[in-house]
Amino acid sequence: MANKEIANKVKMNAGVDVSHCYQCGKCTAGCVQAQEMDYPPSFIMRLLQTGTEENYEKVLKSRSIWVCLNCENCYQRCPQSIDIPSVMDALRCESLKKGMTHKDAKKIIAFHRSFLSQVKNTGRLWEVGMEAEYKMRTMDLFQDVDKVPAMLSKGKLHILPEKMAGKADVKKIFDQTVNKK
Ligand code: SF4
Ligand code: SF4
Repeated sequence: MANKEIANKVKMNAGVDVSHCYQCGKCTAGCVQAQEMDYPPSFIMRLLQTGTEENYEKVLKSRSIWVCLNCENCYQRCPQSIDIPSVMDALRCESLKKGMTHKDAKKIIAFHRSFLSQVKNTGRLWEVGMEAEYKMRTMDLFQDVDKVPAMLSKGKLHILPEKMAGKADVKKIFDQTVNKK
């Protein structure tokens, strides 16, 4: 992919022009996850600006794009109003599509999929179903099981999904978006 194509791709997928970043570092200074990242957000912007295939791959294979919480601190602080959370979102999609996900992303992806499949099937988040699906996907069967009795006694978990009026509409949204990809 030529240099310009990479910048265009990011612009098209995220609606963000990374060339406007002037590397002030305010995003990185305010990023709550910077210490968990292999490349902090300002460096991700710089790698994308270079537009080389090699740097684009580095970004797609990075841990950073998966540990980003989309908290928008960076976006709030950026003097250029660069929407880094949207860039991160677009990069995650691209990384998945190209099979370049970081090894640490496995559980995060399993969580995302379990969450979305419960919303799709029950119309809203059903925590017990999500937890069961997440455990099956990760085979980490005993993680946090000690917390279940307390959560049940406080009514934080529902054994069965609650009935929801707009369930069919939620399914339709999935059919028109996620299932179309
Ligand atoms: S705060 Fe904005 S301009 Fe500054 S480095 Fe981050 S993205 Fe670039
Ligand atoms: S949205 Fe992501 S990159 Fe931006 S501050 Fe939050 S965790 Fe950091």
